[in-house]
Amino acid sequence: MTVAPAPRDEQLFAIVDRERERQNTTIQLIASENFTSRAVMEATGSVLTNKYSEGYPGKRYYGGNYVVDDAEELARARCKDLFGAEHANVQPHAGANANLATFLALLQPGDTIMGMRLDQGGHLTHGSPVNASGKLFKIVSYGVREDDERLDYDQIRDIARAERPKMLIAGATAYPRLIDPEPFREICDEIGALFVFDAAHIAGLIAGGAHPSPVPFADVTTFTTHKTLRGPRAGAIVCGQDRAAAIDKAVFPGLQGGPLMHVIAAKAVAFWEALQPSFKDYAAQIVVNAKALAAALEAEGFRLVSGGTDNHLMLIDLRPFDADLTGKVAQNVLDRAGITLNMNTIPNDPRSPFVTSGLRIGTPAVTTAGMAGPEMVEIAGLIGQALRRRDDAALAEVREAAATLCSKFTPYPE
Ligand SMILES: *Cc1c(COP(=O)(O)O)cnc(C)c1O
Repeated sequence: MTVAPAPRDEQLFAIVDRERERQNTTIQLIASENFTSRAVMEATGSVLTNKYSEGYPGKRYYGGNYVVDDAEELARARCKDLFGAEHANVQPHAGANANLATFLALLQPGDTIMGMRLDQGGHLTHGSPVNASGKLFKIVSYGVREDDERLDYDQIRDIARAERPKMLIAGATAYPRLIDPEPFREICDEIGALFVFDAAHIAGLIAGGAHPSPVPFADVTTFTTHKTLRGPRAGAIVCGQDRAAAIDKAVFPGLQGGPLMHVIAAKAVAFWEALQPSFKDYAAQIVVNAKALAAALEAEGFRLVSGGTDNHLMLIDLRPFDADLTGKVAQNVLDRAGITLNMNTIPNDPRSPFVTSGLRIGTPAVTTAGMAGPEMVEIAGLIGQALRRRDDAALAEVREAAATLCSKFTPYPE
């Protein structure tokens, strides 16, 4: 007797349809999100999901890996090519895994890591007490300068000299300015620390030449593939030959089991897409759009942390616009108005991370959808309108306008 094929799961696929509709009809401004290509999704949804491939190409524990080996080799080669790196590990399931594997490769539990303060733009995996990084390692941190809300490399050097961390991490999840890898390298050389650059957010800007590459300076560079890089939801690590064996061992068998071969295949696709000349234009346009949106938001009466942006994101300080409006309320109001973004702490935020005085806004997704200057001005106007009025009628009006705008820039038409 043969087993009958399962009927289609209508319940789940109705949810997928609803989510596609949401992405098509509301404005996506979450700085860490993007719209991947059909090709990336095709690879992610392929038969490669069926294969167990513990190990690395040519050195697997199970049989039948001679085909998927080619996919991982392709992903590694393209990744090295894209970032000008000697070695690439494309197996991390996510950015968090790439970071933890890097720490486990280069440090002993109890060693000191110095990273950016979480409440000033740093990431959970750089030493939050609720994250493994904060439980396994001693954490010291640096922040932004009080007056201009930018990194102060002299201040970072002073803290590093005093604290003598074994590893210094650059990289952020909510910092709107360029991060210069060179002074970090100099500080690390002076105190004999390892330099890790977490490029999770800006990997696409680096790949597209819009921001300086940390790869020649950092001992290890980690990144996600799904943010500005526009690939599948995952992570990767690049480094020099000198760190290759330690990194590979830390990812597998140190931290992970079998790699997600379908996602690795999708990373190969994303790296290929990022190697095309058009990706340079995309990366540049992300920044152009962010600057245009920032200027238009300022014209709407919003204060921007550090006065603007150099990258794909900006932080609004809501207090001068409306002293009583929290990030949490603003996020909910905008959700109802068809504008998706997230509340975020601003430097020296008097409110808690669950309430916040700020909003984080990013342009990677709307840029992929094809929006440019005029649309940035329109979006800023819609945000201003929704947050000024906040009543049901106003939000319905903005939602309608957002849907009309999105109908001209639909990421997934059919
Ligand atoms: C997003 C991000 C990560 C984590 O990525 P996940 O894929 O969500 O685990 C790590 N570091 C920084 C700076 C990030 O912005």
